[in-house]
Amino acid sequence: MADGCACDGHAQMYLSVDDALKRGLSVADPLVDTETLPLTQAIGRVLAEDCKSKVDMPAFDNSAMDGYAVCTRDLGEGPVFQLPVAGRMAAGDCGDHDAPEGSALRIFTGAPVPPDFDAVLMQEDCDFLINCIQFSRRPKPGQHIRRAGEDLCVGGPILRRGCEIGPREMAALASAGYGRVVVYRKLKVTIFSTGSELRQPGDPLGPGQIYNSNRYTLLALLQKPWIDLTDRGSVEDDPARLEKVLREACETSDLIVTTGGVSVGDEDHMPRLFTEIGGETDVMKVAMKPGKPIMFGRRASALYIGLPGNPVSAYVTWQIIGSQMMARRAGLDHSPQIPVQAVLAEPLRRRAGRQEYRPVQVDGNSSSGLPRLRLMAPSYSGRVALLAQADGLAIIPAEVEELPEGHMLELLRF
Ligand code: AMP
Ligand code: MG
Repeated sequence: MADGCACDGHAQMYLSVDDALKRGLSVADPLVDTETLPLTQAIGRVLAEDCKSKVDMPAFDNSAMDGYAVCTRDLGEGPVFQLPVAGRMAAGDCGDHDAPEGSALRIFTGAPVPPDFDAVLMQEDCDFLINCIQFSRRPKPGQHIRRAGEDLCVGGPILRRGCEIGPREMAALASAGYGRVVVYRKLKVTIFSTGSELRQPGDPLGPGQIYNSNRYTLLALLQKPWIDLTDRGSVEDDPARLEKVLREACETSDLIVTTGGVSVGDEDHMPRLFTEIGGETDVMKVAMKPGKPIMFGRRASALYIGLPGNPVSAYVTWQIIGSQMMARRAGLDHSPQIPVQAVLAEPLRRRAGRQEYRPVQVDGNSSSGLPRLRLMAPSYSGRVALLAQADGLAIIPAEVEELPEGHMLELLRF
């Protein structure tokens, strides 16, 4: 067997999932165009620059507690300490005070700690007498003070280019002083489903017709702030019509994702049409189940991913290969989901040859605390309702033919 390829009982050679993914990533050139946006408009976008802090974090010494700032050198021997309280410092105050030496300062969380104070006492640890506090535990120098720059100094790294700006990234950018950020422009994506049998949900079905589900799966998968999506609905298996839509999509998009029509039937027009309009096809067959007919290719700057028509195959091939190609194309520094270990709750028998992503349900935990997997029907590539009832996909390596109950498998949880 050639390196990285597998046979599926036929003479045709297939690329392994890993090799297909490697090739897919190698043809998905990241965007280079960027735009600068106010931070509020950058939510969910892809950062296009490494960001360093513009300020020290925190910017000044400040109190981590509501209580009293003291100078530990002013304290006597104990066991009980008493200090007059002179002055008050709240968050937002400038830090100036006129408390004489030997006195405490009433202070609140986030307020600047003036340089002549070196510890903060929690108010719960003090008794407040008339204009003075009394406490019995000697504070340590530095106690409950957040020091300037202890989190990060000016120029300290905040975020790397390629991250998706989510809530945590927004917080980091805001605290680091970024009013505007440089992000990649939105990725222009066009989708359409191929198939003369497809009808939109809600319309009546005629003989031989089915509802288009892939369109809705893709709409849900591609709902991202960094995507500018054009939805061309469904296109019947008419070569002239398909060619027109595919050509237009290639001329206006960074990425085109279609479903159906990539296999070897007479009505599978996409591979030929893509070549006819000048596209270069990179991969046609991948040794994966479900989904071996998947194609991707390039035409000028447009990247084309042709997913299989069977709804489960379309979903799985998108999750395993397509989504990663898209992420790279959009400039994302994206790492694939890491599978978790799980155990089979029942024995497995199947035909070896293709790496399989089998829909499974999680049935509690094993004695070692790992999820126990119940396998869903072995023939499932068109059974989309089953996918909605699954908890994840178990990864069955290509060479596996049977496995006993209790055997470990990797699980990609939904
Ligand atoms: P194809 O890959 O075009 O040969 O389609 C394989 C199977 O998937 C056929 O049974 C199609 O009817 C079905 N199919 C194709 N596209 C869709 C779609 N958008 N929604 C639901 N089923 C589809
Ligand atoms: Mg079709």
